[in-house]
Amino acid sequence: MEAEVENPLRQKIDEMKDWLVEIRRTIHMHPELGFEEVETSRLVSGWLERFGLEVKTGIARTGVVGLLRGKGSGQTVAIRADMDALPMDEPDRMPYASKIRGKMHACGHDAHVTILLGVAKFFSSIPERVKGNIKFVFQPAEEGGGGGRIMVEEGVLENPRVDAAFAAHVYPLLPIGKVGIYEREGLASADRFIIKVIGKGGHAASPHLTRDPIMAAGHLIAQIHSIVSRNVDPLESGVITIGRVSGGTAFNIIPDEVELWGTVRSLTPPIREELKSRIDQVARGVAQSFGVDYRFNFEYGYPVLLNDPAMSKLVASACSEGIGQGNVEVVKPSMGGEDFAYFLEKVPGAFFRLGIRNEGKGIVHPYHSSLFDIDEEVLPFGVEMFVRIIDRFLGLEMTR
Ligand SMILES: [Zn+2]
Ligand SMILES: [Zn+2]
Repeated sequence: MEAEVENPLRQKIDEMKDWLVEIRRTIHMHPELGFEEVETSRLVSGWLERFGLEVKTGIARTGVVGLLRGKGSGQTVAIRADMDALPMDEPDRMPYASKIRGKMHACGHDAHVTILLGVAKFFSSIPERVKGNIKFVFQPAEEGGGGGRIMVEEGVLENPRVDAAFAAHVYPLLPIGKVGIYEREGLASADRFIIKVIGKGGHAASPHLTRDPIMAAGHLIAQIHSIVSRNVDPLESGVITIGRVSGGTAFNIIPDEVELWGTVRSLTPPIREELKSRIDQVARGVAQSFGVDYRFNFEYGYPVLLNDPAMSKLVASACSEGIGQGNVEVVKPSMGGEDFAYFLEKVPGAFFRLGIRNEGKGIVHPYHSSLFDIDEEVLPFGVEMFVRIIDRFLGLEMTR
């Protein structure tokens, strides 16, 4: 057993634990989907105003930003929480289960909002000790809506200009009390494509009079699956999955067209571009060899989330100071997506994980499961981690 790290900061933050739990449960009971976070953003802006921050609402529709201007001059740091829930039912197991049918906070965004409010409460009680500015960003629609991109486009990183941005996501694979950090690549880019194979239909018994798009699509599927194995460095990552094939209507008809839908994921921008252009090349080659035509439509989704290695080190070191090095782990990247990536395209920063797993309390279920829950100890714990990161970045030296 590692010796307990003496931690007066945590003792101070623990004084707000009941308040944190109450806020988290209020949000949990009233989940709202992406761009519909009206009550959640009202709750957020209400608290930020009470804390005396400069508050802007209606950014990216339901987003809220609170600005704490410190008494001394210094840099500007932003921290961000996502606010949206998921379109699913939560079973009535807990006293704080969702009261809204078909909606549930099954990704822990209720905890993210609560933790940021806790950090705002902490620093707003001691503005004289803050040098520089702290921007609290409450973002709508992370679950596929790209609220983060819209907030960045609407200028959330300006006025005052943000020097670094940090965000955390609760993590059911990591035990409570631990922090996980990505050194550089965190989450994958997640793009979509549609390939239309255009042939010339006709009678199944006279294929020589047609240009069979089904035959061509079959070869194309096989060829596309050779791209990752032959064009990506075996020590790098990429995924191409074709999730839908559609075409044809009957046993005896060769159709005019076949459509393939797929997703492309990667951890670096060059591989992302390589996969895109190789799919197009392979489709062109296969189409030519079968005498059919094709249309390739590629839709960019969330970009790769890339931490700034220096900021990852800052997070690891600042958190270690409170919880000991043994509780801060480097975690492997994931092929999922995360729209905090749009913030990190513009400013240096880091995305990290807060452990919530607690076998003893039965908190072991994955994200987006109807049994998902968090160990609420993560609320004061998360506040402490952000306070330490901000303290370190702005050079406040409050926690030493
Ligand atoms: Zn999610
Ligand atoms: Zn999430």
